[in-house]
Amino acid sequence: MQKIIENLVALQTVDTKLYEIEMLRGDLPKQVESLKAELSELQEEIDSDKSSVKTFQSERSGLENEQALNSEKLTKYQDQLYKATSNREYEATSSQIEFCEQETNRIKTRMTEIDLKVMELEEGLKPKEEKLSALQANFKERENELNQKVEETSKEEADLKNKRAAIVPLIRKDIVNKYERIRSAKNGLAVAPIIRDCCGGCFNQVPPQIIIELRKRDAIRTCEFCGRIMYYEKTEEAVAQG
Ligand SMILES: [Zn+2]
Repeated sequence: MQKIIENLVALQTVDTKLYEIEMLRGDLPKQVESLKAELSELQEEIDSDKSSVKTFQSERSGLENEQALNSEKLTKYQDQLYKATSNREYEATSSQIEFCEQETNRIKTRMTEIDLKVMELEEGLKPKEEKLSALQANFKERENELNQKVEETSKEEADLKNKRAAIVPLIRKDIVNKYERIRSAKNGLAVAPIIRDCCGGCFNQVPPQIIIELRKRDAIRTCEFCGRIMYYEKTEEAVAQG
């Protein structure tokens, strides 16, 4: 039993250090992730706007060609109108001219629509691109910061994870599970020492009978207030004995 408690204490020590490393990195990993997501969303929006502009521009150049042909026809029909030799020819040419003029209107209306849409899109793109470059700068900065912190602590973290991997198999699986449950519910602290007859996790007084049991180190006892696994430190014994 004593060995189990020692192993649990060792595991808690390692996990506390890992927790401290995580705290040191703070919410940087989350910030970097969310900036990355924001960046790619904005980039997609910009790409889609740009592709809309291209589509409109190609439609517009198609309309320009159409209008050039239409103008040619119109000139031709206007010429024919002067040279018309019969009423029938005159009327037929007139209706051709009318059709060409309608076409001109249709094409010009659509061109105006396109110009407006392109203008709107391009105006919208400016602030989006400014925002994108600001986001990119911020992202780079945060990412560098994170990389630096990861680098500084990565060797220590790897060592701790190795230690952890060596300790865990030494403890019964059900006790490890219990430990993990308490740790995730209690801000990373599952195993707490007795400090001046109090639980070192919640600082509530521990009944003397339990203290005696803990000193014998022959049972796993949890705090009746916070549920943490308690243990009696040798140094505490020295304090108690004066
Ligand atoms: Zn407690």
